[in-house]
Amino acid sequence: MIDTPRHQGLRNKLVIELKNKGISDAKVLSAIAAIPRHLLLESAFEPHAYQDKAFPIAAGQTISQPYTVAFQTGLLQVQKGDRILEIGTGSGYQAAIIHYLGGKVYTIERIKELYLKAKQNLSMINIRLKYMGYGDGYQGLPLYAPFDKIIVTAAAPYIPEALIQQLKPGGRLVIPVGKTTQEMKLIEKTEDGNIIESSHGLFRFVPMLKKKD
Ligand code: SAH
Repeated sequence: MIDTPRHQGLRNKLVIELKNKGISDAKVLSAIAAIPRHLLLESAFEPHAYQDKAFPIAAGQTISQPYTVAFQTGLLQVQKGDRILEIGTGSGYQAAIIHYLGGKVYTIERIKELYLKAKQNLSMINIRLKYMGYGDGYQGLPLYAPFDKIIVTAAAPYIPEALIQQLKPGGRLVIPVGKTTQEMKLIEKTEDGNIIESSHGLFRFVPMLKKKD
């Protein structure tokens, strides 16, 4: 598969659709216009790559809907050079969007097959993240902490304490919390270390997997 002017046209249409649905962050929209989502999906789903839908990737997991990716990215407020931890690499699409916006991306995936595939697909489109790991997101990434921003892209039953600890003062954590449906939570750590929590609507994600041991 390759990227073509036809794919670019479909991305431009997707951007208009997301604008109509209320996504207004120009930088986020420019990232959606730039990243070839079809190259991160199984080839069978290529015709659907630029619809605003979630799609199966492998191992029973899904690539998040573009609207959701745009919404979470907007809440994160990515600044150039931010160190950003993502829990749930999946297809690598969300990571590619953050990378495009100038974030230094550290990402963790719990399913080995997906970790390997995302690694391969991202290198194919010349996107080099700071770190891609096969591991358990509940632990965060202590070796590389602290982070300016943390984004969780699977449904968390609760907010893991490790993630709050690994957030810098002034940092932001965006995490969908809940069982059947999830409340999009934004956790802001103030400069003096206080925690401010706010809610940003209901979403539906695949569940965050428990650690094995
Ligand atoms: N950001 C992804 C969304 C993938 S769906 C994308 O843009 O495509 C959520 C992903 O989280 C799945 O790939 C799932 O395997 C992964 N995941 C689930 N539990 C996890 C955990 N405890 N640690 C790390 N990744 C996890």
